[in-house]
Amino acid sequence: KERWPWQKEFIQAVTEFVNAVRPVLESDPKYKKHAILERIIVPERTIIFRVTWERDNGDIEVNYGYRIQMNSALGPYKGGLRFHPTVNLSVLKFLAFEQIFKNSLTGLPLGGGKGGSNFDPKGKSDDEVRRFCQAFMTELYRHVGSDIDVPAGDIGVGAREIGYLFGQYKKIANLHDGGVLTGKTVGWGGSLIRPEATGYGCVYFAEEMLKTKGDSIGGKRVLISGSGNVAQYAAEKVNQLGGKVISLSDSGGTVIDEDGISGEKWEYVMELKNVKRGRIKEYVEKFPTAKYYEGKRPWGLAEAEIAMPCATQNELDLDDAKALVKNGCMVVAEGSNMPTTLEATDYLLENKVLFAPGKASNAGGVATSGLEMSQNSMRLFWTKEEVDSKLHNIMVNIHQSCLDAAKEFGHPGNYVVGANIAGFLRVAKAMIDQGF
Ligand code: NDP
Repeated sequence: KERWPWQKEFIQAVTEFVNAVRPVLESDPKYKKHAILERIIVPERTIIFRVTWERDNGDIEVNYGYRIQMNSALGPYKGGLRFHPTVNLSVLKFLAFEQIFKNSLTGLPLGGGKGGSNFDPKGKSDDEVRRFCQAFMTELYRHVGSDIDVPAGDIGVGAREIGYLFGQYKKIANLHDGGVLTGKTVGWGGSLIRPEATGYGCVYFAEEMLKTKGDSIGGKRVLISGSGNVAQYAAEKVNQLGGKVISLSDSGGTVIDEDGISGEKWEYVMELKNVKRGRIKEYVEKFPTAKYYEGKRPWGLAEAEIAMPCATQNELDLDDAKALVKNGCMVVAEGSNMPTTLEATDYLLENKVLFAPGKASNAGGVATSGLEMSQNSMRLFWTKEEVDSKLHNIMVNIHQSCLDAAKEFGHPGNYVVGANIAGFLRVAKAMIDQGF
């Protein structure tokens, strides 16, 4: 806090974590003796590099590239790449830090990492995105590999970008290392269900939370923010389980559709966002009974029992939390990473809202990336049903681990405490076993 006060997102993530795991740290002197806390908050390696690329008009542009190799106690570094103008060291360190515990919770052999660039893909041509990805990988390739560090997608990095990154890696490394990136397209190394996994997983987690109260998603109204990869498939799974999706959003504003966003409306969003790369406000031109709220987030705009933030960090603050509680919200399941501010989280917990932190509820994406890596190693592929059933099992297990840890350390039903402690214990044991 004193050395790098501007690293606000990173400080926020560490604060939540330390508050949650304090009882464990104090329960056994070995954590202090092995300096586990001091070691876990410092990245093993941070790589920062220049990315120089060419616009269609011949102008040269320069961006920052980053890879944070945070912790390798459990396996190769694993975590996505984010391309967004807000990317800086603080954002990527918070994401890499969260990734350590998320990956641990999946039970798979995955360390934690994250990377990206302040490059903004919006408004760039396909050729420009390709040239940027090639330039980015021209430096990154020397730091990654299927047993070293395995990046994937995140905000601004989807199947198109992973394809360009993989093509460049293969060319300059002279190595068809299928497991060097996950989120590959099905047909050349990708896993079925990987695009769906984070959104589906988040809804599976919410369903498990509701089961503890003898309830389910069926018949519930659900506010979802974002309209990218995670939001799209969270919406699909909510619809499949009989819930009603009331909202979707992007950085321009929110669409509220009281009739529910399903069927041809959901298909329209998929086309709008993934093919046309358009804005969510275009939805109301197509479906005029819906309403568009410029510059607004969904949380105070309609009543709902469930809220699923699926866009970005700090997109749900204290006022939003109060609006949700006032409007009858009983479950918040985070699809995005750290969408809820610390004050909002406290308010939701005080008001008995079932609250799932992203490191638990959005772990389905990286878990399925782990399954993609297994398939790449075996050089064979599982069916959609097989992958979905493994994903579902992993989410059920994560939910149970959170509940068990929360109960054991005196905070029954508190998923924030449970997720942090359950994730931490596995990593800390590995760090102690392996020496410093
Ligand atoms: P996408 O790029 O596919 O979609 C991001 C969505 O969030 C878009 O609708 C985007 O709107 C919106 N958004 C992004 N930044 C902002 C902002 N500053 N303010 C308001 N809206 C914003 O990304 P993903 O769906 O993959 O990721 C969403 C979240 O989920 C991120 O927090 C990511 O870290 C997390 N996550 C993703 C996983 C995955 O498998 N993809 C796995 C685990 C977590 P616009 O188009 O206007 O920018």
